[in-house]
Amino acid sequence: MIASAFVQDLAQRLHVAGIADAAQEAEGLVRALLGLSKSAYLASPPELTDGQITQLHQQTARRIAGEPLHYIVGSLTFMNLRVMVGPGVLIPRPETELLVEEAIRRIRSGKSEERGLETERPEFESGIRNPGNASLRHSFLDLCTGSGCIALSLAHAFPDADVFGVDISPQALAYAGRNAEYNAIRNARFLEGDLFGPVQGRRFSCITANPPYIRTADIGRLQVEIRAHEPLGALDGGPDGLEYYRRILAEAPRYLEPGGLLIMELGYDQSDEISALAAARGFRDIRCVPDYAGIPRVFLGLCPHGEQRSA
Ligand code: GLN
Repeated sequence: MIASAFVQDLAQRLHVAGIADAAQEAEGLVRALLGLSKSAYLASPPELTDGQITQLHQQTARRIAGEPLHYIVGSLTFMNLRVMVGPGVLIPRPETELLVEEAIRRIRSGKSEERGLETERPEFESGIRNPGNASLRHSFLDLCTGSGCIALSLAHAFPDADVFGVDISPQALAYAGRNAEYNAIRNARFLEGDLFGPVQGRRFSCITANPPYIRTADIGRLQVEIRAHEPLGALDGGPDGLEYYRRILAEAPRYLEPGGLLIMELGYDQSDEISALAAARGFRDIRCVPDYAGIPRVFLGLCPHGEQRSA
């Protein structure tokens, strides 16, 4: 059977089963099995063997039963890297690419459109302009790193930087390690621990985090793909969803270089509260960048100057 005809039938089955992006998911399942890019698939959809059709039927049953597409196919593309995922690790979302893009943009330019960032971060700028200077070598920390998607994207974009990814889940870290290896990224290392635990005494020019941020009471209302399959530990942000942000905002100044950048992904309604929490901790030039749906999604703030290690 020709793959495109199979995809059409499959899309119909998924649609009837109530799957929102049925056409896209049907094509995704088939392309993943065949190992074809979208353009290669569109250029000439191949014939499917009987064995492949059997496998696709099995995968379709799993998908209809609620398993997330990316756990079934085992990987996805994130910032042009291949990121492997499966039970025990959160599937990277497109919003998180926005966080990475924003981080790369800010780190590259060492400044932003805001005059505050431009004029008040000479040390950050000089670091960028002298990448060969070991004393100014960048080091980045990604908290709640999960699959490592943020840490690896930054390590890939800044091959001279040292990148640390931390997660409390050994299962997640196993994926992060495999993803580093698969993408041949050697300047990222992954450490197991609770937030800053494994990086005591270090300072970073940029800290990123996509912490668990769903309110505990809202978890039961998530789609079945998420609530029944993805790790709750990567989603549950406590009663008000802000537990990890409070801890990160309290501790980050001790781990950021003066003027260093903190970037975090936010839940859909959290920007006001988190901006206020950050301001109370002395962060400067706070802003929240909207995602493609217009939801303030990426928090950025600069570390209070002169924060002491003992603070
Ligand atoms: N964005 C994820 C979701 O919508 C949640 C990720 C997180 O809690 N950091 O399910």
